[in-house]
Amino acid sequence: MFHKEKVLISACLIGENVKYNGKNNLLDDIEELKKRYDLVPFCPEVEGGLPTPRPPSEIVCFEPLKLVNQKGEDVTECFINGAKKCLEVCKSLDVEKAILKSNSPSCGKNRVYDGTFSGKLVALPGVTAKLLKENNIKVFDEKDMLIFTQTRLQFIQ
Ligand code: SF4
Repeated sequence: MFHKEKVLISACLIGENVKYNGKNNLLDDIEELKKRYDLVPFCPEVEGGLPTPRPPSEIVCFEPLKLVNQKGEDVTECFINGAKKCLEVCKSLDVEKAILKSNSPSCGKNRVYDGTFSGKLVALPGVTAKLLKENNIKVFDEKDMLIFTQTRLQFIQ
């Protein structure tokens, strides 16, 4: 039995129904991923105190950081709390890699919706992805993964 590296993963990618709409983003390749890695599921929005289901939120200002949900309610604190808790989990478990859901205001690696709730993306990371990157956690998203062989799973960036 080989030692499996712990990798944090957005909980919705492993099939937990934590998305804003109460659904998930289960990855097709999740079983292959589980064979090779000790996956640590985490949803920053839920852990930050938001309910499921919940109105979708977007980042309306990056500096200073402000997020609102579709009802116009300020949810910044929940997003910050969730990101901090996620970093704590990574540190406590010596996690060095995270696979996060693309385009999410928490988990988006490189891009998030632009705060107008119109489906437009901007080239900036989500709140949790940013904090993890600033603390030297390697952040990937579900589009970075390719399974090449039966014995090896590679990440490409
Ligand atoms: S915050 Fe991240 S883990 Fe939670 S539902 Fe959104 S994308 Fe998935």
